[in-house]
Formats: sequence, C-alpha cells, structure tokens
Amino acid sequence: MHRDTVFDLLGVGFGPSNLALAVRLAEEASVSNLAHCFIERQPEFGWHRGMLLDDCRMQISFLKDLATMRDPKSRFTFINYLFERGRLVDFVNLKNFYPTRVEFHDYLSWVAASFDDRVNYGETVTGIEALRSAANPNDIDALRVFSRDHEGREWQRVTRALSVGIGGGAMVPEAFAALGTHSIVHSSQYLTSIDRVVGPSSGARKRVAVIGAGQSAAEVFVDLTRRFPHVDASLIMRSGALKPADDSPFVNEIFSPAFTDIVYAQPRDGRRSLIERFRDTNYAVVDRPLIEQIYEMLYLQNVSADFRHRVLAHTGIETALRTADGRIELTLRDRLSGHARAEQFDALVLATGYRRDTHFDLLEGLAPHLGDALAQGNVERDYRLATPESFKPRIYLQGCCEDSHGLSDTLLSVLALRSDEIAASLARHLSKDPSTGRTEQTQESEASSGRIAFVF
Ligand SMILES: Cc1cc2nc3c(=O)[nH]c(=O)nc-3n(C[C@H](O)[C@H](O)[C@H](O)COP(=O)(O)OP(=O)(O)OC[C@H]3O[C@@H](n4cnc5c(N)ncnc54)[C@H](O)[C@@H]3O)c2cc1C
Repeated sequence: MHRDTVFDLLGVGFGPSNLALAVRLAEEASVSNLAHCFIERQPEFGWHRGMLLDDCRMQISFLKDLATMRDPKSRFTFINYLFERGRLVDFVNLKNFYPTRVEFHDYLSWVAASFDDRVNYGETVTGIEALRSAANPNDIDALRVFSRDHEGREWQRVTRALSVGIGGGAMVPEAFAALGTHSIVHSSQYLTSIDRVVGPSSGARKRVAVIGAGQSAAEVFVDLTRRFPHVDASLIMRSGALKPADDSPFVNEIFSPAFTDIVYAQPRDGRRSLIERFRDTNYAVVDRPLIEQIYEMLYLQNVSADFRHRVLAHTGIETALRTADGRIELTLRDRLSGHARAEQFDALVLATGYRRDTHFDLLEGLAPHLGDALAQGNVERDYRLATPESFKPRIYLQGCCEDSHGLSDTLLSVLALRSDEIAASLARHLSKDPSTGRTEQTQESEASSGRIAFVF
C-alpha cells in the first residue's frame, strides 16, 4: 500500500497567474506553510516565448507587475528586479512605462527562479480524478492529479485544492485545421517555427500570408518584412482596417481591480454587454505606433514602386486547400465589391487568437461530480468554481473567467490582487476547518488502485 503526500494546493501551469500566486503564498503568513506545488509543461519558465520578438513592448505598465499593486514593498516587484540587476537608474532614464517583452520575460523568469523547488517543470497535467471521503463516501474530499513528463513517465499527486492557470489554447479555424500543420504556424509558435517554415534567406522567394487583425498579426507581419528579405508578406483581415487599441485613461479604468467587482455584480447579460462595449481595448486592435509603422512601410513601397508586402483589409477567406505541390490556396473575397479570387501561398501564420475553454478538457474527469458548475461557468467572486456542497476540494480558475470577472481576467492587470484574493480564500477555508478533513485512509486505498504513484 502506498501513502500519497496530500497537498493543500496544486497549481496547474506556471505562467504569470500561478507565479503571482506563488509569490503571494510566499509572502502571506497565514498561507505560507500550505503544502503546495505547481506543475508546468514547459521544461523551464517561459512567457509566450513563441512571440518574444526583440523590440515588442509590454501593453501594460511595469507597475502592474506580480506584486506592486498589492504591496510595493514586496521583494518581487519589477523595480526591485531592476535594482538587483543594476539597471534601475538606466531604466528611469528611458522615461518609459512599457518595457520590452524580452525584459519583462527576464523579470518573470527572475521571480520564477525563487520558486524552483515548488515547480515540477516538463510535466503536462493529463487528467484529474475525484477521490471519495472514507468517512462519507457521498462526499468528494480530494483530487488526484495525473501528469506525464517528457520521457513518458506518469506521475500522480493528491491535493485538497487546485489552481488552474493554463492560459489560452491556440485558436485554429476549422478551414486551416483540416490542412495539417505543414507550413502553417499559429502565432503562439511563431518564433520557434518560422525559420524552418520560410527556409534560408538565400533560398527561393516565399509568399507568406498572416491571418488576423490584432496585435500579434501586426507584430508578425512587421517581423516577416524586416527579417526575411526573401518573404513577400500579406496581412489578410476581414475587418476594414488595423484599428488602434483604446488605452486612454478613463477607458483603462476597466482594468482596475475595482472594476472586477463592478463586472461581477452585473447579471449575466449585463456582464456580456460591458465586456462587448470595451472589447476594443484588447481584441482585434493594435498599438498605434505599430499601425503607423506599417502604414509608413507601405507608403515607402509606393515611393519605390516595389509592392512586395500588402495589407488586404475587407477580405474574407472562403476556402483553404492544399495544392498538389504542397502550397496553400486561399479563396479570398473582397467584402466590399463581392469579387472572389484564388491566391497561393507558401506558408500561413495564423494570428487568430486563443481559446479560453481548455480548462473544460482538463476538468472533464470531474464533470460527474460538479453538477452544472462547469457547464454554466458558475465561478464565485474569489475565482472558485461553485461546486456542489458534497464536493469539498476547491478549484480556482485563473484566466478563464472573462465572462464573469471582465476583460482583465486573461491579462496581467489584476494578477497581484487576484492572487491575494485566492490566497485569502484559501486562508479563510483553512481557518474554518484547520484539519481540512484529511482522511489518510482514503488516500491509501485510492493510491493502491491508482496508476504509477511517484511521491516526493
Ligand atoms: C504575445 C502575447 C503578449 C501578451 N502581452 C501582454 C501584455 O503586454 N500585457 C498583458 O496584460 N497581457 C498580455 N498578454 C496576455 C497573457 O495572457 C498574459 O500576459 C499572461 O500570459 C497570462 O498568464 P497565465 O499564467 O494565465 O497564462 P499563460 O502565460 O498562458 O501560462 C499558462 C501556463 O500553463 C502551462 N500549461 C498549459 N496547460 C498545461 C497542462 N495541461 N499541464 C501543465 N502546464 C500547462 C503553459 O505551458 C503555460 O506556461 C499577452 C499574450 C500574448 C500571447
């Protein structure tokens, strides 16, 4: 018989959301002794590495880092990072609130390094199973979390609470999914795949289409035109123009922590309409300087009469198919004139955004025990899935509560405070029930029938 370690909290994914939680747990006395760990599928910490383009900047002030908004005196602030790296004075001289993404990635990695002993890198969580209470078999009192590492080994851990912070999954429209992955790259994999896809600059000319109208589409388009002299790039979008993100100060208040309360207090329809009203702060919009840069690049093409790169606005893609020689043929329809034409490309970059529903797959094994909490998206203000009374483990959802908590949920804006709310919720729960009802017997018998159980 095998005895599992029972964690108080297990975090799935170790991106900024769970990293912020790790920081909070480390700094808050009432929860600092919780038995907790994180499981992250990447081999080391990484924040959107596939889009870590050299000169791209953050779309949020550095002051909205993992800690400052909660506690400017935390040792995990961006300012302390600059100080410890010896760049604080130079950074001040930049007079810029928006560091490059490369620098912010370095900041996040610097914070993450403090939690190496808590994170199991290189493991993907593959499923979660409910464990019944030995005292009351009608109750579920813990969760078994299954994961697989790079070498195919399976692991399992038992926990009383879960923090799901797995980010978004690449959104690949059906028409493109059917074509397979050869020479088709989602923007999330852009930097790790593009060299292979377009080949060396000394090679033949390549026609590459970027699909999308948002920040990633614009960034990829500019990168292709700058770094690959043999690439002719086309940016294809249904909308009529690249539109600027509204980051004006009054509008920006929707990303304030207080706005989460305002959204959450609305009835379902009210939440939806608030989110729709402010969609142009985050979706299908581009930073104005980048728009201006693209416009100027196209203008200079006009001057030199060298029309290699194009922005095709008002353009719908009706069909996508593979040609006999492996290229991709798109039927493009001009949405103003109604005229359709076929064009062939050597490669596509899909800047088509992210799905925010991947937690459904992750939690699928628990569905029979969750009532309609999952299907209805019933999440409490403290980000806890509203599970039935008989389901004791606490499941916190981060980054997939936009419908209930507003547009800041998928971003960095409220991380410092959201992690505080989750930590406080855990602390309240533990203080109500200090034993958390541990039933070692249950865990022993369940473990003996489980898969390979590695325990640390
Ligand atoms: C290119 C880009 C730039 C952005 N820039 C900004 C910005 O400037 N400002 C802003 O506010 N927001 C920005 N965002 C939004 C972004 O969502 C947040 O910055 C942030 O990444 C959210 O953190 P997260 O931890 O919730 O998700 P993620 O950063 O996506 O992290 C999720 C982690 O979970 C891991 N994971 C997933 N599934 C599993 C599994 N089954 N098992 C184990 N691990 C798993 C992933 O490997 C990943 O490391 C940007 C997004 C992109 C794509």
